[in-house]
Amino acid sequence: MSKGGFFMLQTENKVKQINCYHYIEGKYVASKDGRTFQNINPATEDVLGDVAIGGREEVDLAVNAARKALKGEWGKMPLRKRSYILHKIGDLILERIEELARLETLDTGKPLWLSKSVDIERAAYNFHFFADYMISVGAETFQQDDIAIHYAVRRPVGVVGLINPWNLPLLLMTWKLAPALAAGNTVVMKPSEVTPMTATVLAQICTDAGVPDGVVNLVHGFGDTGAAITSHPKVDAIAFTGETVTGSAIMKSAAPTLKKVSFELGGKNPNIIFADADLDDCIDTTLRSSFINQGEVCLCGSRIYVERSLYDDFLEKFVARTKEMTVGNPFDENTKVGALVSKEHYKKVLSYIDIAKSEGGTFLTGGKRPDGIDKGYFIEPTIIIGLNRNSRCVREEIFGPVVTVLPFDTEEEVLEQVNDTHYGLSASVWTSNLKRAHRVAGQIEAGMVWINTWFLRDLRTPFGGMKHSGIGREGGIHSFDFYTELTNITVKL
Ligand code: NDP
Repeated sequence: MSKGGFFMLQTENKVKQINCYHYIEGKYVASKDGRTFQNINPATEDVLGDVAIGGREEVDLAVNAARKALKGEWGKMPLRKRSYILHKIGDLILERIEELARLETLDTGKPLWLSKSVDIERAAYNFHFFADYMISVGAETFQQDDIAIHYAVRRPVGVVGLINPWNLPLLLMTWKLAPALAAGNTVVMKPSEVTPMTATVLAQICTDAGVPDGVVNLVHGFGDTGAAITSHPKVDAIAFTGETVTGSAIMKSAAPTLKKVSFELGGKNPNIIFADADLDDCIDTTLRSSFINQGEVCLCGSRIYVERSLYDDFLEKFVARTKEMTVGNPFDENTKVGALVSKEHYKKVLSYIDIAKSEGGTFLTGGKRPDGIDKGYFIEPTIIIGLNRNSRCVREEIFGPVVTVLPFDTEEEVLEQVNDTHYGLSASVWTSNLKRAHRVAGQIEAGMVWINTWFLRDLRTPFGGMKHSGIGREGGIHSFDFYTELTNITVKL
């Protein structure tokens, strides 16, 4: 049993049972009514453990603890000390990288090497980055002739609700938690019901690093749990990552109390490949942008557009390389594609495969469970051609290892198709023509455009989407702008 009530019974490499509790005011607690649900390993369909279900009562306790802590030591702590604590959280995440990566893989079904090298490493880096960044963030000052000096001061926004999805559980939670804490806020976190484990450990890590009790609280659950946070009158802001429809529901429930919101929502991101692209580089990256994390990344480029003169060559190489990808046991180091996160999501992705068949799509590879794997929610990496631009599989977010490929003839035509969507999260453009690269990138209606690459991130840069893909930006100063309020002070000279 590890510290504080996160129970983990282990024998060698096998975890027998892991129960997740809420974390309120520095302690693990069960729900008052004792309700729990089962957490399922998506790669084996075995039960991993029980997870407490929080209701209004638990959310209320967590919010009140966060409110109290806002007035306590945390708010008054010297910046340098708070920065030190954030660094320490990052260090402790790295110290526990093996354990956290294993928990992330058990919860999500993603390959262990990926959990380790991306999810957990980047979670630690989120803290290290904001620990350094926070001490350099200022605000504006203006001298108005010889009349006045105006200066703005930043202060925490208050109690922030952090609500996250299941695809990159610790990475996305820390992407919000680190700047929220850096700016002096207190929080109530809610991880997705299907991936509760790493956030449960994170809460304890924060305490171990020196975060005072009540600053970081966590409530598990589903259904009404998230809504109890987003509608709570004592919550000042909501940072949410998840589906577009959920964002819309959250906005509605946050409206009566006028909460500040930051939304990172869904996407259906285009990957535009011109005939003069470096094909080998493009194929290497397109394999990642299509199938990494089982295609369960909001930034995945699932709509691939290829200039007609390259179309056949591209498909030949792309299909051959996709067929080489090993699908299966996430703990095997050769596995490239693990299990989808849950039975519900697996069924949703399969339903899109059926839709593609009914819409006349041709499957060049995939479109089914891998042969010989009887348990777990596995789907082969799937490439579909022959669909038209209005097909549901071309327009809707599938969020699985499924891509569609369409040919195009002109720059104008592809831009028109690419922007014909209510999503606007990200895009990639592949070309060796520099002028065209900038010209096209500047016309795509998306919050992030990569030229000749994908998912290359610098945490100082704005991250987020336009249209139905989000509200606001995260990263660097953008995170600080969300997690702080500005007060302008004017001194008459
Ligand atoms: P969901 O929107 O279903 O859920 C996200 C979180 O919101 C979960 O914790 C969920 O809890 C909670 N929730 C659900 N309903 C409400 C509600 N009414 N009020 C408050 N909270 C609620 O997203 P998924 O977990 O299915 O994640 C996949 C989605 O996330 C995809 O659309 C993907 O594109 C998007 N995403 C966007 C990113 C971006 O940066 N733009 C990054 C990563 C993912 P519960 O446990 O009950 O489901």
